[in-house]
Amino acid sequence: MKRPQTIAMLSIHSSPLGVLGTRDTGGMSVYVRALARAMGRAGHRVDIFTLRRHADIPAMQALAPNVRLVTLDIGLKTPPPKRELHRYAADCVTAVESFRSQADGAYDLVHSHYWISGEVGRQLGVRWHRPHVITFHTLAAMKDRTGRGRPAAARRLAAESALVQDADALLVACAGEEENLVRHHGADPACIMQVPGGVDFERFRPLDGHRARRQWGFDAEDFIILSIGRLAPLKGQDRILEAVGRLEADAHLRLVFVGGDGPADPEQRRLERLAARAGLAKRITFTGSLPHSDLPALYAAADVFVQASHYESFGLVGLEALACGRPVVTSPVGIMATLGARSQPGCLLTDGSPAGLAAGITAVREQRQAWPPDAIRSAAKAFSWTQAADAALAAYRHVIRRHAAAGFKTLGVLPAAGAPAKPRSTSSV
Ligand code: UDP
Repeated sequence: MKRPQTIAMLSIHSSPLGVLGTRDTGGMSVYVRALARAMGRAGHRVDIFTLRRHADIPAMQALAPNVRLVTLDIGLKTPPPKRELHRYAADCVTAVESFRSQADGAYDLVHSHYWISGEVGRQLGVRWHRPHVITFHTLAAMKDRTGRGRPAAARRLAAESALVQDADALLVACAGEEENLVRHHGADPACIMQVPGGVDFERFRPLDGHRARRQWGFDAEDFIILSIGRLAPLKGQDRILEAVGRLEADAHLRLVFVGGDGPADPEQRRLERLAARAGLAKRITFTGSLPHSDLPALYAAADVFVQASHYESFGLVGLEALACGRPVVTSPVGIMATLGARSQPGCLLTDGSPAGLAAGITAVREQRQAWPPDAIRSAAKAFSWTQAADAALAAYRHVIRRHAAAGFKTLGVLPAAGAPAKPRSTSSV
């Protein structure tokens, strides 16, 4: 085995143990947890740092062999809202450093997830003379281009630009995000490395659909259209509703939305109003967020999985559906755009419009597009978490070598909102 690495992974705003499918917790938490676990299994050591959200959460806990979750106490009774969190970057740095010095440990590299962690990771990298890499998971510039949801704060846009120039490497989950970084942030392609997302193939596998329908109370004759994800305008659940409204009316048509914060979630209420206006209320079920352990049976119960997002930096749910042998009708985003363009079994790429999605759903329904579940599952097989961890570790080794060869950086100052990013330091890769 190559020399084991010791990694500080930062997931400041969202705990890898958070409730999946709620407002701030989704694919990134799955990604951080699964990547760290796979690295731990391979003998590397990973400490994941997140903000402590309740006083009764332990300061440190073992998540898996060689993987620890460290919760940072920055002296606040209640954690600040996500939009305020960037103000506490220095406090987070102090808390991480205090943990490191008490444990008398050292890290080979800092890997930040999301821009808020990036501000912390950048400072830690300089302080420890270690390389800093970042996975953004979403880019504000890309979200803003969709025109969905509230525009991003200028502070975030400026910070992401600065981090693109400053980090020792930018890790992206798929090729589309690489293009986004180059086009919208002028990233140096030599600085970008791909570390895909993955699927837990033991958990997400084809199951008996009839049994799954009974378990969830669906009729055997129902045609079930499934959507899983946080409820947000960016996710395009309204486009799925509109697509269903365009399908031939049929008492057996059912649309199931999994995810969100429950009946009081403003986005759920908005979708319910849209459904009522379109006369679809009776056909739609909102389950709220459900744990991963519940999802394989839901995928099995579905006739088709629909992803209608306006933007995804990867999109784990599409892969999970494929791993469960279910066909996916998708907008051209994230990894499903890549797989769909390659005509992988089970991926039906559309333009994401309600008409396009409706045509895709109809093609599956009329069996014009039919694939055996095993063929669909094989479309996802290149995406195991072990492979993802191998890609991350290879990127780390590369960056560590380059960083050591180039010497250390000094701590620059992030530009004020709207100001141009500082030029790349000569030691950056
Ligand atoms: N998820 C879940 N329960 C829910 C909704 C979502 O477990 O109620 C999981 C889903 O299975 C996937 C992740 O949350 O693993 C969402 O990741 P994705 O990349 O699709 O979207 P993101 O949250 O990153 O926008």
